[in-house]
Amino acid sequence: LAFGALAACGSDSDGGSDGGSDGGSGAAATGKVGVILPDSKTSVRWETQDRPNLEAAFKAAGLESTIQNAEGSPDTFGQLCDQMITEGVNVLIETDLDPDSGKACIDKAKNAGIAVIDYDRLTLGGGADYYVSFDNVVVGQLQGQGLIDCLQGKGVKSGNIAFINGAATDNNATLFKQGYEQVIKDDGSYKVVGDQTGDWDPDTAGKVFDQFYAAHPDLVGLVTANDGMAGGVIAREKSAGVEGKIPVTGQDATTEGLANVLQGYQCGTVFKDTSLEAKAAADLAIAIIKGDDPSSIATGSVNDSELGTDVPSVLATPVWVTADSVQSVVDAGQAAAADICKGI
Ligand code: BGC
Repeated sequence: LAFGALAACGSDSDGGSDGGSDGGSGAAATGKVGVILPDSKTSVRWETQDRPNLEAAFKAAGLESTIQNAEGSPDTFGQLCDQMITEGVNVLIETDLDPDSGKACIDKAKNAGIAVIDYDRLTLGGGADYYVSFDNVVVGQLQGQGLIDCLQGKGVKSGNIAFINGAATDNNATLFKQGYEQVIKDDGSYKVVGDQTGDWDPDTAGKVFDQFYAAHPDLVGLVTANDGMAGGVIAREKSAGVEGKIPVTGQDATTEGLANVLQGYQCGTVFKDTSLEAKAAADLAIAIIKGDDPSSIATGSVNDSELGTDVPSVLATPVWVTADSVQSVVDAGQAAAADICKGI
């Protein structure tokens, strides 16, 4: 255990997981923003990180907001979209569940003259006005490199590796995979012997692990694309008595993931400071509502390969966190030490 790595473990001296401070988002604007979050199961981040961060960012900006969760249902997603349009939101921010229902909402909002920001996931072929996220190929590269560094650190210089990917309906899952495939190749040392979706579901990921492990008992490590799926795999590894012996990766710096990192079951997690993402979405919303030019905020762009267009974007930088740097996530206000330690 790397308890010592988390200075506050056991002493509960941290400020909590309220999303940290928000620097304010410029002069107040009058207007209302609607947000549709995707679910609360594929990652705890949407309710424990994004909702409080978005609330704080809108409050600091003086914007009214309604933040709803589609709970994994495209029908609910559509209903929430209709409601928000009827309520007269000025800007609609959505994290899609799949390209079809995501695009249907974008089309309706745009027909009603409402600007749309894709939040975290780009709706391929959707035509949103703006996109706010992290550099998701880099997220995947960090996962791939994190696993390799971790294996090398254990003296495991070769062996069989498997991938458990995110949901096929999520453009991010494609980008993460692109990233880790750039790093982990069949190059004579490590070999990729399994490659399947875990559908952003811990139980599914656990079952996929069981299959991989039955076929390849000599597996040395896995890329699991987020902390939730990592947790599902670690549960199955515990049943097989190989937790920590076949390390996994993660993403989202959740309290569960950070606890698994400290216990050595998970090599690390990708820390995406979601308060930056929320602040960027709020800043864009304010500029749109005030009629300012948002191009000073959306300084980059991401190509929508379906439409062949570049979507003006804000992309924050993800960071790989190991047991030695768990404290940095606590310091940033994204997780409370007491909550992490509770899971150990
Ligand atoms: C997000 C991840 C999240 C996953 C499952 C992805 O689109 O970028 O942070 O873990 O969805 O909700």
